Amino acid sequence: MNILDATSFLTIVSYHYVRPIRDSKYALIKGLEKTDFEGQMEYIMRHYNVVSMEHVVASIRGEEQLPQMALLLAFDDGFSDHYLHVFPHLVEHGIPAAFYPSVSPTVERKMLDVHKIHFILACETNKMTLVDSLNEHIEQARESFDLEPIHVYEKDFKKPNRFDSGEVIYIKRMLQHALPDVLRTEITDNMFGKFVTNDQGAFADELYLNEEQLKIMIAEGMHVGGHGVHHEWLNHCDKSHQETIVRDCRSFLDSIGASSQFMTFCYPYGAYNDDTKAIMERDGFDLAMTTEVGIADLAFHDRYMLPRLDTNDLPKSCEPEIVTWTRNLM
Ligand SMILES: [Zn+2]
Repeated sequence: MNILDATSFLTIVSYHYVRPIRDSKYALIKGLEKTDFEGQMEYIMRHYNVVSMEHVVASIRGEEQLPQMALLLAFDDGFSDHYLHVFPHLVEHGIPAAFYPSVSPTVERKMLDVHKIHFILACETNKMTLVDSLNEHIEQARESFDLEPIHVYEKDFKKPNRFDSGEVIYIKRMLQHALPDVLRTEITDNMFGKFVTNDQGAFADELYLNEEQLKIMIAEGMHVGGHGVHHEWLNHCDKSHQETIVRDCRSFLDSIGASSQFMTFCYPYGAYNDDTKAIMERDGFDLAMTTEVGIADLAFHDRYMLPRLDTNDLPKSCEPEIVTWTRNLM
């Protein structure tokens, strides 16, 4: 028997940017081309049974069973892409999905540092130019912030992963968490101004979903869950800070009408610790998702540690045969 025939298996696929990328102003942004998204939906509709979050939660509560080849779509980070390019396609084909916006960009219309970094990276073909600019800033701040020499940081962080080159990972890690908070915000803003735009407000307004759009999506049966306030690495926050973040996410979900029957969470960067899981349980969240790569087995996995696949793990056109992950996991 195919292991995915068992009804406790759930393939969760995560998405971030989904937009017409080629020929756009930000043609280097790491995201999914809109036509590839549509091709992937065809593939998924052919080989899987897409389930709603309501169905997944009912299954975890033991009230319903999942169909064979169950698959859940999860769209992270609350981009307006999801309203403009994803939502119409989902509605047209009757496909349910879950969406995970962070609170601050949605409500305050402010850029998250993580997305400033994506667009800095997308505005420069030669990543060494960016590394040089970053290292110049670090060198200038070295004494006042008591920083390590640059070669120490490069040794620690210039390591490619399955999606990015060593240079890109170095820039991301330094600006995401390796440098002191105040300094990395300052450098990120400076580089965003130099390489992207000085008008962060207008950029944020265009980039992120707003509350009205989320309410429309909820009214059409889409699920919205928590994804931090400022997209925090929760494992780097102490317990009381995590409690505040989760409480603020909950108030936000209440305010847009997303929390009446059940609540879910998606850890920013997939990062969490034991405190996070305890807070999830205490605050009444039904499940939470990580970025660990794999297919979830609801009978086996901790419901606050569900693994996911990335869109890049699945074909982007309607392949007649089921490929990649499902076969690899046999
Ligand atoms: Zn995210």
